[in-house]
Amino acid sequence: MKSFQCTCGNTLFFESSRCLACGLDVGYEPGLGVIRRIDKKFRLCANGQRHAACNWLVPAGSGEAFCASCRLNRTIPDLGNALNRHHWILMEAAKRRLLHTLIGFQISLPTLAEDPLNGLAFDIVSTTLDPAATTGHLSGVITVSLEEADDTWRQINRQQLGEASRTLLGHFRHESGHYLWYRYLSRLHWDHPSRTAFRTLFGNDSFDYGSALARYYQQGPPANWQQHYISAYAASHPWEDWAETWAHYLQMVDGIETCEELGIQATLAPLPAGLEPRSNAEDASFRALLQRWISLATMLNEISRSFGAPFLYPYVISPSVADKLRLAHHFASVWR
Ligand SMILES: [Zn+2]
Ligand SMILES: [Zn+2]
Ligand SMILES: [Zn+2]
Repeated sequence: MKSFQCTCGNTLFFESSRCLACGLDVGYEPGLGVIRRIDKKFRLCANGQRHAACNWLVPAGSGEAFCASCRLNRTIPDLGNALNRHHWILMEAAKRRLLHTLIGFQISLPTLAEDPLNGLAFDIVSTTLDPAATTGHLSGVITVSLEEADDTWRQINRQQLGEASRTLLGHFRHESGHYLWYRYLSRLHWDHPSRTAFRTLFGNDSFDYGSALARYYQQGPPANWQQHYISAYAASHPWEDWAETWAHYLQMVDGIETCEELGIQATLAPLPAGLEPRSNAEDASFRALLQRWISLATMLNEISRSFGAPFLYPYVISPSVADKLRLAHHFASVWR
């Protein structure tokens, strides 16, 4: 995430809606990627005005009530319930962070209503009220269970599923991986170079998804999963491996941006054995990214240790995971 400044010089954040130093009402303008004042040219998204749930801006002349993020919502929870409202506000904040990164890649984000083939929609639903709904992606619709915004609920699930971390932002990033796979890869011919590149690294994705997941939940991941996957769950099926890898790539990109904007400089030590890529221009840009991230992640973990807290970055990037992340880096640079 970038750092922002008010016209008065005070520091502002991605979530800011008012400058605490000078009292100016501000919001985030996703087109330009800046926090700016609310004036005749830009007004606050309707979800900001009505529910204090959004700080993104809408061009005053656009005729749209909702911002580029809220416009993607197809279903939101019943806001008459105060707890729902609280959880939903946390959801929207995580979703905007995901969208910030995707917009940074210059990936267009039409709504599903505007573009039934490539568009995106979010259903944020309570799975207590609607037990048939589960977090996932289907044909351009990302469903996220509202209960994921409950810290206790999420931690219980994290422990039961043996995950290193479980966050709302992680869910949004993961599901965006499924959506983008559907949009950019699923309709390509089996022998298309992108499909072949995918299959070479992630495995044969025609493998039955339902039985792969059933087997994963029954038997767990293979003992040596860390050599091949970024998470245990990634071992369940090539689609999940991709979604986990993509989510991880977004976390790296956002993590690097945040650290460097704050002036935390990576020390560019040589990459660990096996992580050195082949040599072309794209590999050079990925190499630089990986090098910066490994350096910064080490610092972040040392900081966690000095707080007596669990590692902020409980992951290991093996050579085959680095290869998968490299493909994610490539797709991020060509998908528009
Ligand atoms: Zn100010
Ligand atoms: Zn909004
Ligand atoms: Zn998934």
